[in-house]
Amino acid sequence: MKLILLGPPGAGKGTQAKSIEEKYGIVHLSTGDMLRAAISAGAPVGNRAKTIMDRGDLVPDDVIIEIIAERLGRPEAAKGFVLDGFPRTVAQAEALSDLLAKRGINLDLAIEIAVDDKKLQDRIRTRAKESGGARTDDTLETLSKRLIVYHTKTAPVADYYRKKGMIKRVDGMGSIDQVTTAIDDHLSVVTEA
Ligand code: AMP
Repeated sequence: MKLILLGPPGAGKGTQAKSIEEKYGIVHLSTGDMLRAAISAGAPVGNRAKTIMDRGDLVPDDVIIEIIAERLGRPEAAKGFVLDGFPRTVAQAEALSDLLAKRGINLDLAIEIAVDDKKLQDRIRTRAKESGGARTDDTLETLSKRLIVYHTKTAPVADYYRKKGMIKRVDGMGSIDQVTTAIDDHLSVVTEA
């Protein structure tokens, strides 16, 4: 199964992607996690990305595309993958389509987790407290910026997949379990196909 999870920061993409990874035995690829790992490792790409991430902006498309192209080429991705936090721009979505076409891989589905801005602010506030500062971009100031970036640059990615007839939207306002069930309903159709 080859999936994309779309949705604003704090929508629960990471949580849902982890449960999909366990349930379907596919690899969870989070570009945010990859960038944070590069920062922790002191890699040059991480140092450049940190400043951008801390102000809530997007890391340049070419940097992200290179990272994801390498990860999708690893053997563990061959069985299937769930992309979390990528693509975040239409240019990234187009690059992904090209990359997969060249490798003869078909995406099954993009799932959009819809949550309103007020709820996201509440969740990020909680996450900032619970993570004990582990994520330096989980502040209300950075979140406001990340939401603007989401609405201007990432929301069009959902339209990109909508036009291809490949997207399903789930209500992300409920509990984690409710969202998981809503996603599973769509995935059962994919696994039956
Ligand atoms: P996330 O963990 O997905 O919320 O990502 C945290 C931060 O990493 C984002 O706010 C961006 O600065 C950066 N980032 C993650 N994925 C991407 C991407 N696909 N394109 C550009 N920047 C990204």
